[in-house]
Amino acid sequence: MIEMIRFPGVRTMMKGGYLLATVTASSSFHLNVLQRATAFSPTRITHYSSRIRHHDTTRAYLSTTQLYEQKQKHIVLVGGGHAHLQVIKAFNQASLSRLANADWSVTVTVIDQSDRASYSGMVPGCIANTYTKEETEISLTDLTEWAGIDFIHGRVVDIDFEAQEIRLEAHGDECGSTNDENDSSKTIVNYDVLSLDIGSTARGLEIPGVLDYTLPTRPIDALVRRLDEASDALKENTNVFLKGDDDDNNNEKIKIVVVGAGAAGLELAMVLRERFDPIVQGLGRELEVTVLNSGSTSNLLPDENIFCRMALQDALDRRNVRFVNGRVNCVNQDEVVVEVEQEKDGEMQLCSLPFTICCWAAGAHPHSLSFRLGDSGVALSDRGWIRVGPTLQTVSYDNVFAAGDCSQIEGLGSEESPPKAGVYAVRAGPVLVENICKYLKEEELVDYDPQSDFLKIMNCGDGTAIGFRFGLPLVGKWVFDLKDDIDVMFMDLFRLENLSSLNDKTNDDDRDGSIHVAQYDDAIIRQIDRIDALEAANILARSDDGVDYQEAWIALREMVADEDYKREVLKCFKKLNR
Ligand SMILES: Cc1cc2nc3c(=O)[nH]c(=O)nc-3n(C[C@H](O)[C@H](O)[C@H](O)COP(=O)(O)OP(=O)(O)OC[C@H]3O[C@@H](n4cnc5c(N)ncnc54)[C@H](O)[C@@H]3O)c2cc1C
Repeated sequence: MIEMIRFPGVRTMMKGGYLLATVTASSSFHLNVLQRATAFSPTRITHYSSRIRHHDTTRAYLSTTQLYEQKQKHIVLVGGGHAHLQVIKAFNQASLSRLANADWSVTVTVIDQSDRASYSGMVPGCIANTYTKEETEISLTDLTEWAGIDFIHGRVVDIDFEAQEIRLEAHGDECGSTNDENDSSKTIVNYDVLSLDIGSTARGLEIPGVLDYTLPTRPIDALVRRLDEASDALKENTNVFLKGDDDDNNNEKIKIVVVGAGAAGLELAMVLRERFDPIVQGLGRELEVTVLNSGSTSNLLPDENIFCRMALQDALDRRNVRFVNGRVNCVNQDEVVVEVEQEKDGEMQLCSLPFTICCWAAGAHPHSLSFRLGDSGVALSDRGWIRVGPTLQTVSYDNVFAAGDCSQIEGLGSEESPPKAGVYAVRAGPVLVENICKYLKEEELVDYDPQSDFLKIMNCGDGTAIGFRFGLPLVGKWVFDLKDDIDVMFMDLFRLENLSSLNDKTNDDDRDGSIHVAQYDDAIIRQIDRIDALEAANILARSDDGVDYQEAWIALREMVADEDYKREVLKCFKKLNR
């Protein structure tokens, strides 16, 4: 039995990232107890202090058994991104009490520099005005509060892996604090088990002018905000975008340049066309959308087969997206300076690519924090990703896990580490949950077995989408409807209104006390009724509005589950397209 003690008069709250305790004279004794028990000081939060709920400003509850008899194991999750969302939900107070045993109990703290997690799969839809910004985000404050675990809104600047200490700059402290990473005023959080899900940043940000004049895709919430500002500026006809007021300039095209011809850049080009076309037409101007491809081949998405690439090219042509091949030399206020290879002699020449708005979608690159952690002792790949094994434990420290974009998985047999895509981060979540629990219980950990390929869908911005799976091009409204269903279903898992109260003793998934390690869509997979292979091929080959996306989804799921069925559908598909 856990005996709860109430400390009357002790007021606690998070302020500027510090846990503040306001104490009346009558309760100074209790503060003393509190201080000794938690080693609490204004700049130091130990794992004990996480028992004090920061959102409860009037009462502090401490568990005597936990503080004085049991050891507390502190799990810290750095980053509340795609990989950690399911971990946060799984490690709620109800399930954590099950994980605890007579010797130890568990507390969990989430640290993120943003208080909202952006779901990138829906961001292009937000740019195309299909979703609101709120629909693409999860409030980490709400989710952690629901789970009854702590949330620190702050930026991790370093980790001492030997001392098991995380050094962070709390939100709002950035202005006041020094740049000295060793500054002792920075907040320290201790951990027993650490999991890193810090995502990635955009490649090439160091190229002169990129940070000054372009809109990078990372952080993704900043991209949406800055595109909103750009739209407003255009609508208001401010001369930030419409330079000059003579006739010549007024007839100039509005030019959007997207740097990067990967899936994210191409999707962005299509949804930007959808978003800005009406605005630009309203100004009586013409919109030009250009993608700058710096790849070694002029083929778009060279890893896809010719059929998929042709379907993609068709989708881009229909939206009048043009291409330029070359490498960025620098970016000036209104032009990208590009090194272009001359056809006649192979010489490189500098060319100007003028823009009104330039989006930077040049692929994923490790955060500077990743390199910092490398200096602090965690092993990194050549490119700077955190090296982990199939259990998602770092190769350097058994009690440090990493998942999602920031990690590179080694030892997957013949498979390489999966690409930097949200789908792999999401699928790593339940494995993290299971392995962190097993690590604490000193059991054998399980391996993450990432799928070798995944359903890639690009939103075209007009209610249709283009996707690729098993080498099949999938096109039409049904492809967007399918994407919408998958994305909304995932987000719904974390919406406060869909989460049942953990205090309610009625038995259901969130309250039964067990820790959930299943993939979020497992339940749906079990509901599948197979469709005949020829019928499945027929559905997948269609692009008209009459296709029922649910049937297409059933077909695709079954193709994943059953190799023979997949072969049969692909055979039928080939015949249909002869
Ligand atoms: C425009 C665009 C569209 C995309 N569309 C898709 C798609 O449709 N499907 C798909 O599979 N993938 C897509 N991706 C890729 C996908 O976004 C990433 O693979 C995914 O976000 C990786 O998730 P993650 O959990 O690794 O990191 P994230 O979800 O990015 O989370 C990282 C978290 O760490 C926090 N953080 C970072 N540094 C610190 C720090 N120092 N201290 C504290 N917190 C920190 C961040 O605030 C963030 O909340 C897209 C990417 C872009 C740019």
